[in-house]
Amino acid sequence: MMDIALARHWVEALAAAVDAHQERLTQLDSAIGDADHGANMHRGLTAVLAAQTSYRPESVGQLLVEVGTTLISSVGGASGPLYGTAFRATGQALPAADPDAAELLTALRAGLDAVRELGAAAPGDKTMVDAFLPALDAFEEELRAGGDLAAAAARAAVAAEEGARATVPLQARKGRASYLGPRSIGHQDPGATSTALLFGALAEAAAAR
Ligand code: ADP
Ligand code: MG
Repeated sequence: MMDIALARHWVEALAAAVDAHQERLTQLDSAIGDADHGANMHRGLTAVLAAQTSYRPESVGQLLVEVGTTLISSVGGASGPLYGTAFRATGQALPAADPDAAELLTALRAGLDAVRELGAAAPGDKTMVDAFLPALDAFEEELRAGGDLAAAAARAAVAAEEGARATVPLQARKGRASYLGPRSIGHQDPGATSTALLFGALAEAAAAR
């Protein structure tokens, strides 16, 4: 089950991970983009942490919607609206009561659907979708096998990292990296890499229970 305290921990762990990996995200984006992904994510999560102190959410859903709204308003790059939409759609799909792991999975699927609707990226286009989708499939598999939220999130984090690494040989078909055409091949997608941090943070927060 996820309650507001766990959701806050998730967001804080994500902010810490983005802080620790900011350089790496920037390096990846300098190879196939405009070298701002680390800065974009850092600006967004810093704004989220600052706003957290005045959030008074009555549900996990409300908290995630607020996180998404803050990301959209604080990040200029493509990733701000995309992650912001993911958090907002996930939050909107959650029930008013604390969600169990299956309800969280359903809501995260709604979050991914919203990203795909906004960005029109298909799996294999070398975007955050290539980490997000395998993460949710692994999460679902673990729940089906009887695992709890912590186990499912741990599996999702591993799958997201594998998904991010699997973007290396792909040619980008969406976002700035697509302008490079075949020259985008051979580099890991920055957004897929930050999505792995998102699921790593969820696993960290869930494991702390
Ligand atoms: P910008 O591309 O505006 O500089 P960022 O550098 O912060 O924004 O984010 C780049 C990341 O955003 C990419 O690595 C990719 O994962 C993701 N991205 C870009 N366009 C799309 C899209 N249309 N759909 C999904 N993800 C996308
Ligand atoms: Mg960029």
